[in-house]
Amino acid sequence: MVNSNYCAPPTSTKEIIQLASFFRKVLGISADEKIDVIRILEFKMQEIFEGFNYVIVDSQELPDTYAYTDSKKKEIVIRDDIYDAAINGDARHRFTIAHEIAHYIKHLNLDIKLARSKDINKVPIYETTEWQANTFARHFLVPIDYISNLREHEIAEKYGVSLEVARYQIDYLNKRK
Ligand SMILES: [Zn+2]
Repeated sequence: MVNSNYCAPPTSTKEIIQLASFFRKVLGISADEKIDVIRILEFKMQEIFEGFNYVIVDSQELPDTYAYTDSKKKEIVIRDDIYDAAINGDARHRFTIAHEIAHYIKHLNLDIKLARSKDINKVPIYETTEWQANTFARHFLVPIDYISNLREHEIAEKYGVSLEVARYQIDYLNKRK
């Protein structure tokens, strides 16, 4: 399972941005389009990844977790209320699904035993599965290529993300300049 924070091979933000952009290309979605995470989950993932599966479970079965990726079963498991929220365009849970897709793409073959062996509080953040999945989700949902002239709320609206994610992307862009 990749529902806790583990240690993963170090990956820079730049590498994650390249992966997110490459995945958009594979999906045929241009950088200024809003991502339909549900369509990717329901149709595209199994076209691209052999053996991919997703499961929606009752919220009582998964009281403490929104979703997780089961690397052994090669599946993404999502709580029904989170899935419904994402279908209805809820920015936070569209992000939840993008985050799990990131785990699937990046951490499925991670040796979890090895990943657990280090003290997660002592490893640099870019070597953690959670940071990598969040960074992928942000750059997958909001490519920085077309946002320089947009305000926070415009980015949030255009790409279906929270204001927090929009702000994060603007900050990243400004830092890079
Ligand atoms: Zn995660």
